[in-house]
Amino acid sequence: MNAANAPEFDLIVIGGGSGGLAGAFRAAEHGARVALLEPHLLGGTCVNVGCVPKKAMWLAADVAGRLNLARTLGFPVTPAPLDWCEFIVHRERYIANIHASYRRRLDAAGIALLPSHAGFLDPHTVECENGTHLRAERFLIATGGRPVRPAIPGADLGGDSDTFFQWRAAPECVAIVGGGYIAVELAGMLQALGSRVELFVRGDRLLREFDHELADQLAEDYRQAGIHLHFGYDLAAVERDDGGVRLRGMDGSECGRFDALLFATGRRPNSERLALERVGVAIDAQGHVVVDERHTTSVEHIFAVGDITPNPPLTPVAIAAARRLMDRVYGNATALLDPNDIPTVVFSHPPLGQVGLTEADARRVHGDEAVHVYRAGFRPMLYALADVPQHSLFKLVCVGEERRVVGIHLLGEAADEILQGFAVALKRGITLDDLRDTVAIHPTSAEEVVLMR
Ligand code: FAD
Ligand code: NDP
Repeated sequence: MNAANAPEFDLIVIGGGSGGLAGAFRAAEHGARVALLEPHLLGGTCVNVGCVPKKAMWLAADVAGRLNLARTLGFPVTPAPLDWCEFIVHRERYIANIHASYRRRLDAAGIALLPSHAGFLDPHTVECENGTHLRAERFLIATGGRPVRPAIPGADLGGDSDTFFQWRAAPECVAIVGGGYIAVELAGMLQALGSRVELFVRGDRLLREFDHELADQLAEDYRQAGIHLHFGYDLAAVERDDGGVRLRGMDGSECGRFDALLFATGRRPNSERLALERVGVAIDAQGHVVVDERHTTSVEHIFAVGDITPNPPLTPVAIAAARRLMDRVYGNATALLDPNDIPTVVFSHPPLGQVGLTEADARRVHGDEAVHVYRAGFRPMLYALADVPQHSLFKLVCVGEERRVVGIHLLGEAADEILQGFAVALKRGITLDDLRDTVAIHPTSAEEVVLMR
């Protein structure tokens, strides 16, 4: 490379979401000259249309549930519907603070922020929307993904998770298509916030990749809460109906009318605008950028992290991958992201968390003989006090003589907060006896994990 076409930056990061920001900050900490390209809001999906506003709505729904409990328990409160507009002021203020904090940190780190999409021109050059060319020695692709909906007539009559965050009131009656994380989370939230919810799932259970027993228990909880679940539902078309919509199934059946419809039918990676074919970066059939365990693409100086890769699409996974990558590239570290035993929580009502293997996976990997399952079904104290029939179900999946814990599955109040610590323990290879040797904290839900027999 001669002086005229020497790189202006050590690293150009394409995409300012969870993975891109984490990578940019960590590379700058190591002294790299970094440029970050982000055409929209800093923080990407998680901060703007994902984890953060979702958790805010989940918390609002949780408060709504607790107001009902409070009344049952003798507090003289009269629960009323949430004023979404007022709540959204708090939600957006929280998010604006995150944006401001990112901007301050980018300035402090000397990272050049360019508000533009970028696509590759050649292996060391990207082009911005205004035609500017930027050169770098290395690149990090972190362009995330976006919601997709089925290619059926009338699909445009529905919204998706991005649309949900633009709502300013709860619809009276809402249909949600999908049975994964987003469908289950939106259904629980909307029901708790006063909507009548019907969930249309093409498979025969919710959350196919979670432990079946807990997913089935969650479905039962949802039914008891008043959510109408349709399993084995094949949607053929969406039609207008008196200012709302109705759904037509493949079998000709009709459901509706609904005031609103949301598709939560998965996400597609944002790889199209990157012109990856120009530089030979390989993508898979779904459009994910293919990476090895070092998060290197098929081109040695171009890396990718987060939802643009086939890794689990979770914020902490994107961040962990980006930080480890930059520590290897610009520091002396060698650690890779361990793809196993990544804990995850679905913010349903109640939440459902898991780390490690489901019972079905454990049986497949270790054989039926080796697998030992322990369960605790109980009513959390608050619900018992209010005589509300919400039960928790905790489950341990252990293998071998020594009962090594290979899966922890928690459905119930506070599961979201309990799981993290036990995920550390599972990763350290604990056994059932290690749990039993730990003195319980009483009275809590968490103690059930160490008391299982
Ligand atoms: P993103 O955060 O999507 O960032 C990508 C960025 O790249 C975007 O800002 C985009 O504008 C930009 N971009 C795209 N194309 C270009 C281009 N050509 N040039 C420049 N920039 C570009 N995960 C959790 O762990 N916990 C949760 O509770 C959780 N809840 C979620 C709820 C919802 C509704 C959704 C949709 C997702 C949720 N997730 C959650 C997943 C999480 O948001 C993602 O895994 C995470 O945001 C991925 O980070 P990323 O950096 O890969 O991509
Ligand atoms: P998921 O992959 O979790 O679920 C997609 C759902 O849509 C599945 O039930 C799938 O069915 C169904 N589906 C797909 N295509 C169709 C179709 N054509 N017609 C009908 N149903 C269809 O994706 P989400 O969009 O819910 O979430 C995306 C990712 O974001 C998640 O995988 C998760 O990693 C992340 N996320 C994390 C959260 C958290 O950590 N709490 C919260 C929200 C999102 P089938 O199972 O049969 O394929």
